[in-house]
Amino acid sequence: MRFSGLRILKEGLTGNRGWGAHWRDPEPKPAYDIVIIGGGGHGLATAYYLAAEHGLRNIAVLEKGYIGGGNVGRNTTIVRANYVMPGNSEFYSHSLKLWEGLEETLNYNVMHSQRGIINLFHSDGQRDYAARRGNAMVNQGDDAILLDREGVRKHAPYLDFDNVRFPVYGGLYHPRGGTARHDAVAWGFARGADMRGVDLLQNCEVTGIDIENGAVTGVQTTRGAIRAKKVGIVVAGRSGQVAAMAGLRLPIESHILQAFVTEGLKPCIDQVITFGMGHFYISQSDKGGLVFGGDLDMYASYAQRGNLPLVEHVMEAGMTLMPMIGKAKVLRSWGGIMDMTPDGSPIIDKTPVEGLFIDCGWCYGGFKAVPGSGHCFAHLLATGRPHAAAANFRLDRFRDGIGLMDEEGTGAQHNLH
Ligand SMILES: Cc1cc2nc3c(=O)[nH]c(=O)nc-3n(C[C@H](O)[C@H](O)[C@H](O)COP(=O)(O)OP(=O)(O)OC[C@H]3O[C@@H](n4cnc5c(N)ncnc54)[C@H](O)[C@@H]3O)c2cc1C
Repeated sequence: MRFSGLRILKEGLTGNRGWGAHWRDPEPKPAYDIVIIGGGGHGLATAYYLAAEHGLRNIAVLEKGYIGGGNVGRNTTIVRANYVMPGNSEFYSHSLKLWEGLEETLNYNVMHSQRGIINLFHSDGQRDYAARRGNAMVNQGDDAILLDREGVRKHAPYLDFDNVRFPVYGGLYHPRGGTARHDAVAWGFARGADMRGVDLLQNCEVTGIDIENGAVTGVQTTRGAIRAKKVGIVVAGRSGQVAAMAGLRLPIESHILQAFVTEGLKPCIDQVITFGMGHFYISQSDKGGLVFGGDLDMYASYAQRGNLPLVEHVMEAGMTLMPMIGKAKVLRSWGGIMDMTPDGSPIIDKTPVEGLFIDCGWCYGGFKAVPGSGHCFAHLLATGRPHAAAANFRLDRFRDGIGLMDEEGTGAQHNLH
């Protein structure tokens, strides 16, 4: 089933009765060449690129719930390439380039909108850092513009520029940054993988990982045992638990991140605005809802829902930055489980178990990484060698301390990244 303007017109005129299911609902086979654990954005993108770029077909994605039910359908959809550190910088640049062609690649409308991102700063010191960050982005081949206070005002006149504690000094503008529709990204990759023969097995929780003589041989699931030559763990907030099934202890803590959406309003916020000092960021969805969030809930948990002190903090920060937000009614809030590493940067690597690979540690920034991560993890699974854009995302950096990428400069405390 191909999507096109002509097809939409035809279906619109004939009662929309010609659309088929986007993917099959197959029974598990006894064995696959590659099993991906986790049907989130990263797992689905990995399966897609394995099939589309490496010609592999005998692949299953095992998802314990339903596709799009994890963080890939819970995030605030920001897509950007504004990292500083070597390792991160080239990876997110690679991922953004994949985003820019994604709708054509997948023949799917993921509503990628390059509306721009403005990171605000509130002191001279922060301006210096923003300039340095912008230079790193430009050196990487991405885009960055340092805005002064009046430059920010042109884009976002509704901000409280003269806030006593955090007056707005300016902002770092990243025009190619923006948003995408999160669950459509999962659906697009799911459909693309399914079309190429990948089995997407929902309601199929992995309960054990089979290992013989130091090599992986398959997995135990709630839908029976499945043999596999290679297994990739891509389970975001559950990484520590699933890796433990193979006897691995990961350098990861799982923390909750909440987000909020208001009732639909007329267009008023054109870009994504981040207010780092107040731990607050906001954009407006195409439906009109203001989508915003803040910091982690600050204690480790697998609860997938947030707690009230953080709700209060986020609302206060929003009111501080843009008092007009007080007029909007919040419709919903929710939480997701973040896989936080000690340096805030991800892992795409082999594990000490032969044939077992892992892709995790995306912290609260893994949505923008979906195409890049899938692309690089598929390369590693298919060839056994790291992709150049993800070569620094090694697991052993946490054992020997070499090659740590502490992007935020906050030290080895998971929840501060
Ligand atoms: C509130 C919030 C806001 C965010 N905002 C942004 C943002 O603006 N920009 C950005 O870049 N990132 C953002 N993120 C982070 C981003 O969503 C995640 O880093 C990313 O989605 C994680 O990868 P994933 O999509 O593969 O995860 P998931 O969708 O969580 O996929 C993992 C899957 O593994 C499955 N699974 C777990 N255990 C098992 C098992 N035993 N067997 C089978 N399946 C299993 C889960 O059910 C889940 O579906 C945000 C996250 C949250 C929660």
